[in-house]
Amino acid sequence: MADSITADKAHCWHPFTPQDDWCDPAHDPVMIVRGEGVWLYDANDKKYLDGNSSIWTNIHGHCRPKIAQAIAKQAATLDHSSYLGLGHPLASELAEKLVSFFPEKTLERVFFSDNGSTAVEVALKMSLQSRMQTGQEKRTRFLAFDNAYHGDTLGAASLGGVNRFFSRFRSSGFEAEFISSIDHLDHVLTSTISAVVIEPLIQGVNEMRPWPKGMLKKLRDWTLENGIHLILDEVMTGFGRTGTMFACQQENVIPDFLCLAKGLTGGSLPLAATLTTDQIYSSFLGPSENAFYYGHSYTANPIGCAAALASLELFKSDRVFENLPGKILFLNRSLEDLKARHPSIREFRQCGLIAGIEFDKESGLKIATAARNYGLLTRNILGTVVFMPPLSVNHEEMTFGMEALDKAISDVVQ
Ligand SMILES: *Cc1c(COP(=O)(O)O)cnc(C)c1O
Repeated sequence: MADSITADKAHCWHPFTPQDDWCDPAHDPVMIVRGEGVWLYDANDKKYLDGNSSIWTNIHGHCRPKIAQAIAKQAATLDHSSYLGLGHPLASELAEKLVSFFPEKTLERVFFSDNGSTAVEVALKMSLQSRMQTGQEKRTRFLAFDNAYHGDTLGAASLGGVNRFFSRFRSSGFEAEFISSIDHLDHVLTSTISAVVIEPLIQGVNEMRPWPKGMLKKLRDWTLENGIHLILDEVMTGFGRTGTMFACQQENVIPDFLCLAKGLTGGSLPLAATLTTDQIYSSFLGPSENAFYYGHSYTANPIGCAAALASLELFKSDRVFENLPGKILFLNRSLEDLKARHPSIREFRQCGLIAGIEFDKESGLKIATAARNYGLLTRNILGTVVFMPPLSVNHEEMTFGMEALDKAISDVVQ
């Protein structure tokens, strides 16, 4: 076999990546070979802080023994069986645990899939089909927000408000109307809308931009007044990232659909879930043509379910929610210090353990790249450098990340 970088440049195709830059002989890609806690190690055994939580997936640190053991045990017991026509106990247990985060008679049903895009895709199709089966055929459109990101499958992408990614496919997906804030709700033609989709509390791909406090609750009231489903995309915000298990809990909002993925397995395996209410579910009962004809081969994969259950256990044994407030405050102070030292920081935005540090557009990319030299892996979104470590990060590790950023900023900005 060729060395791994040669083989990569010859045969691999990376997501969201201009491949000519990637394959340029001058580009020396980092190949990650090992992970432990918040650290990732490259092929030369150089270690990096995982400052982007491996694209927002990792919760408890890498290769946590409890998750690794649960995976190994399940892989040796039942690797996969079809969830179509068969069940398995770990999916039952996981579904029961997921709905237990919400009051009884609210979110009661769990539909499993593989990733964030399909979790959203499922919610969109369920919303539309339930309209068809309850005499509301006119509700065929969706409402979404400018600069939103809900995934890359065609349905989810049609709700994406990031034009640089989605504009070329705009005419291929669902019909959607976009607004920039809830101040524009009065202009929406409510009678044709099936559902509104939003990332609660903070938009991730939109350079980590938090919504105004109280906004989610107001949006929820509006959907109830107008008979519109609320789909919450907690693919990024779920599993403690914002300081509570789910972001919607901070505004006491329970949606009609809750989409979960990235952190569901603690960041170890692809698994997703769409939670919904008995009310939606009941519209799929009755004649067999009312059923939800949708699914993927690896729906509710048992190894993924085992990893998810182990991750939920770690929330308890690591006392995640007892430790988070101190970490969130420490991150806030560290960001204040960093900003005071570097006038090139326009502002920073924080929600829980998610932070975006905004520079001008050119500097953002350069700083994120330079930070690697100092052992911090992260990414920029336009001019905003993301700092979003696993929830297991400690103060010392956050300080390491901040110092790496500090040096990278000094290198890039004169
Ligand atoms: C990452 C993300 C998705 C898509 O999830 P994939 O697993 O990448 O398909 C959807 N919504 C939000 C808010 C995300 O951050």
